[in-house]
Amino acid sequence: MAALSISSSSSSSSSSSLNLNFRSAKPNFSNSNHILAASLRFAQKFSQIPRNRAGFGPKITENDRTRIAISASSSSVPSRSRSRSSSALEFDVVVVGAGIIGLTIARQFLLGSDLSVAVVDAAVPCAGATGAGQGYIWMAHKTPKSALWELAMRSKRLWEMLAASIQQKGMDPLDILGWKKTGSLLIGRTSEELAMLKDRVELLSKAGLRAEYLSSHALLSKEPALEIGKEGGAASIPDDCQIDASRAVSFIEKQNRDFTSKGRYAEFYHDPAISLIRGSRSGEVDAVQTSKNTLYCKKAVVVAAGSWSGSLMLKLLSESNISLNVPVKPRKGHLLVVENFNSFRVNHGMMEVGYVGHQIATSHPSSSSSNLVDNEQNLSISMTATTDAMGNLVLGSSRQFAGFNTEVEDSIINRIWTRAGEFFPALRELELSNLSDSKKVRVGLRPYMPDGKPIIGPVPGLPNLLLAAGHEGGGLSMALGTAEMVFDLVLGNVTKVDSAPFAIKGRCCN
Ligand SMILES: Cc1cc2nc3c(=O)[nH]c(=O)nc-3n(C[C@H](O)[C@H](O)[C@H](O)COP(=O)(O)OP(=O)(O)OC[C@H]3O[C@@H](n4cnc5c(N)ncnc54)[C@H](O)[C@@H]3O)c2cc1C
Repeated sequence: MAALSISSSSSSSSSSSLNLNFRSAKPNFSNSNHILAASLRFAQKFSQIPRNRAGFGPKITENDRTRIAISASSSSVPSRSRSRSSSALEFDVVVVGAGIIGLTIARQFLLGSDLSVAVVDAAVPCAGATGAGQGYIWMAHKTPKSALWELAMRSKRLWEMLAASIQQKGMDPLDILGWKKTGSLLIGRTSEELAMLKDRVELLSKAGLRAEYLSSHALLSKEPALEIGKEGGAASIPDDCQIDASRAVSFIEKQNRDFTSKGRYAEFYHDPAISLIRGSRSGEVDAVQTSKNTLYCKKAVVVAAGSWSGSLMLKLLSESNISLNVPVKPRKGHLLVVENFNSFRVNHGMMEVGYVGHQIATSHPSSSSSNLVDNEQNLSISMTATTDAMGNLVLGSSRQFAGFNTEVEDSIINRIWTRAGEFFPALRELELSNLSDSKKVRVGLRPYMPDGKPIIGPVPGLPNLLLAAGHEGGGLSMALGTAEMVFDLVLGNVTKVDSAPFAIKGRCCN
């Protein structure tokens, strides 16, 4: 149980006040239900305790009288009903956002240090982009020497090490992570695309990867279901891998929850972060106010809220003098999953080479390999195809700027199907409408950054507030490297990968 000490304290205010000492409290709950139960127990205690004048939550110390609630929503927290149902807890690190980025950051602190960690989410893991991801852990479409290359390489290495460690423990990484070393195929059909693929193979080989150009004939021997014409070909990167996002998230959550019994981990789901509390003297962030809890943090707060990070940071900093504009935008993506698909087999992870251009944001993507159907939303569709850990055919994918709308758009699913049919003739024999029992659609909002790089690092002027967001279509693959980088930045270690290209300064503020 968390240690909770309650003692009287004198106050200059005329109202009675109490000192609820949570500073040494370490939550020790075995699952979310326990957390809920504990919150209720705290709430019951608090409802019988006189409030301070401001009514600002249950923790009232000398320091608290000088605390500043940054946002308007925070300073309005003191409504009585709110105070009654809220509780305060303290952790070393509070992570806001339980997508793949937030969860792996939590995991890194839990495994790599003795710090305690809380993870907060407005919903649940996989509610954001993470639940929709195709799971490619690929280097095929990354560019050597680019800022992303080192991070992606390190991250892929960490995924490989994780898969190997699971295997060493006698478990199957396919079951646990959906891990498959499928290899990747970047496919082209025009002479322009083939020239691009040959250059890419040379580039990747020079960077030390195993990479091979496959002619049409060689490609069809590996993937007989494809139709690419005599002129077609592919870049093959045999060491590229894939995970299943849901399985990987379940595993990471379970790993994190192993630390609850040690009093080092707690989850607060369906409990959005709404404001920050800062100490007036240090100016540092003291706590995250969520809709139900006040989570004090001794070491750092990390905002990993994917596409929501921009608007959330504006809200969190709204009453500070720090001006931060995080230009992350939601980039909607659809995937089509055909369950129990047995018309043909897809052996590798595949992607049409036009995807590479679409991932990098362009205001006018080339229409040579995609169907540009809506200029305003900049909709593009590129063929991706793989077989997932359950044996389902996973077809993608679309990219569009449609705000935070996550409605399934049938017209886009039809286009994904049609596009896939241009590569797999057997699909043209099938009517999508006849697959309704086995058809599933996944939609997610990729956190898009205009300069193509995630933001990872401390907020200038608030060194204990960090951001880790904006991984667009590569957040699954870059998660472990990002988590390691955040961990090293918080602990003042030398980072394994240069963090400078990902810093906030110069990108979200001067
Ligand atoms: C169709 C599609 C295919 C993809 N394929 C791949 C792929 O093959 N390989 C790859 O590497 N990547 C892929 N991606 C990209 C990848 O899924 C994302 O980059 C990654 O999931 C982003 O993770 P995240 O944790 O930053 O964001 P999210 O998963 O979106 O998580 C953000 C979390 O923050 C929470 N949140 C928001 N506001 C608040 C608040 N106020 N308080 C608390 N919590 C809050 C949300 O509820 C959410 O759970 C794909 C994405 C899509 C959509």
